[in-house]
Amino acid sequence: MERPKAIVIGAGVGGLGSAAKLAQSGEFDVTVYERMSFAGGRFTQHDHDGFQIPTGAVHMIPHGKKGPFAKLMLGSRSKGGLDLKRHGVDLLPTSHFACRMKDGKFQSANSVYGLLPWFSAKDTVNLPGLLAKGAKKSWENETEDGRTWLERRFSDEFIDFLDAFSNFAISLRFDQMPASTVVRMLQNSFWSDRPHIPKGGCKGVIDGLRADLRENGARVKLSHEVTEILPGTAEEETKEHRFCVGIRRRGRDEATWVGTDAIIHNGGHPNLLKALSDDFEVEEVVRTQIENTQAVGGIGFCFALDDDIPVRSSGVTMLPNLERVGGFVIPTFSDPSLAPEGKHLMITHQYVPDASVKSEISKGREDLYEAIPWLADHGEEICVHTYHRNWPCNRAPQGAELPMDIGVDGIRCVGDGVKAHGWMMVEGIASNVPNVVQQISQSM
Ligand SMILES: Cc1cc2nc3c(=O)[nH]c(=O)nc-3n(C[C@H](O)[C@H](O)[C@H](O)COP(=O)(O)OP(=O)(O)OC[C@H]3O[C@@H](n4cnc5c(N)ncnc54)[C@H](O)[C@@H]3O)c2cc1C
Repeated sequence: MERPKAIVIGAGVGGLGSAAKLAQSGEFDVTVYERMSFAGGRFTQHDHDGFQIPTGAVHMIPHGKKGPFAKLMLGSRSKGGLDLKRHGVDLLPTSHFACRMKDGKFQSANSVYGLLPWFSAKDTVNLPGLLAKGAKKSWENETEDGRTWLERRFSDEFIDFLDAFSNFAISLRFDQMPASTVVRMLQNSFWSDRPHIPKGGCKGVIDGLRADLRENGARVKLSHEVTEILPGTAEEETKEHRFCVGIRRRGRDEATWVGTDAIIHNGGHPNLLKALSDDFEVEEVVRTQIENTQAVGGIGFCFALDDDIPVRSSGVTMLPNLERVGGFVIPTFSDPSLAPEGKHLMITHQYVPDASVKSEISKGREDLYEAIPWLADHGEEICVHTYHRNWPCNRAPQGAELPMDIGVDGIRCVGDGVKAHGWMMVEGIASNVPNVVQQISQSM
């Protein structure tokens, strides 16, 4: 018997993860369409003279082997995971839980408790209260921002350190997020593992997902953009299906029509609304929420470092008190394959408070040379990337996520616009994949 067809729009880590889960279930005939000529979206890399330069993610898995991402990618199938170890996917620990550079000096810690001696006694006394605070869900009628909440309990120095981490990880500061989001994010970070680095960089995971899709008979079609989603009855050849999807191959003018019974959209809500025909009703309140949601931008520098650098750690290193840059990471101290032999790759990240990207880049560069005394002698800037518009840091700000269900049966959204409460970056994406796939199965 022919299986129902499911298409996944976008080969980002959320799209490929969902496709792999659908394909493993054997219930669907799965095809992924990706408009770019490469898979992985903002979670892969391009080789630049041996340096593995990210398309987005700085090769960090925030919660290591204990977070939702590891559970999904490495967990056994009986526990809801994809078991991608079979395809060589692995996560390598960073050398420290967290680090900081302050006044030119480097410090490292191996657990949250290892951080505490850097700060005041007040921070040690109040940390258990933060860890125990109920924040699994957003607080009702919440009006307070995260910084204000923390300021009543912790020293400025401790908050600035954590806020630099927030800048580095999600391009937002604590005063830009609801308090319950900040509390939950910190709990998730403190309770779980140190950050890990995917073996072979982000592309190691993407290659594993693609191998798994191949093994289960699913296809990934690159350079194919989905431009329209119509009811199946719109075209003669798709009338047996719930949807008729218009697909444009790069370099060709005419679209082809493909019939499908289920859609997982990984390309962001605004792109979904643009493609969706008026035949499908989306409530005004949902449209307005999507229209009012601003993607979050950011800027990242990549430096080639020589092997004489004094900092020899792959731990996320916070640069508190800087105007722009939140921190940096040198992933080659966990996976040397990310740079040519005898060299290291350093990746920085900074939030963007001002729309003038050019001046933000200059300010970030100034920040870096001022805060890292050895950078001028041991580093060479390879590139600087800005992330905005359709290639942002986050399609929805942390704490203002969009619904995975926009009210159209058979269509669900996955990716960084729909992360679960308090889960950041790919942890948030992974935490939603099982729900999305389950709802798609149930919609048949
Ligand atoms: C600078 C930066 C650093 C980061 N660092 C980290 C990190 O170290 N660790 C971490 O966990 N997270 C990190 N993140 C976040 C993480 O990279 C992203 O959240 C994640 O990669 C987003 O994945 P996604 O599944 O939402 O989709 P995306 O990566 O956005 O992929 C969606 C894909 O859909 C395609 N698409 C869109 N529309 C269509 C269409 N109509 N037809 C066909 N294809 C379409 C796009 O081309 C794209 O490839 C970082 C992000 C940035 C920008």
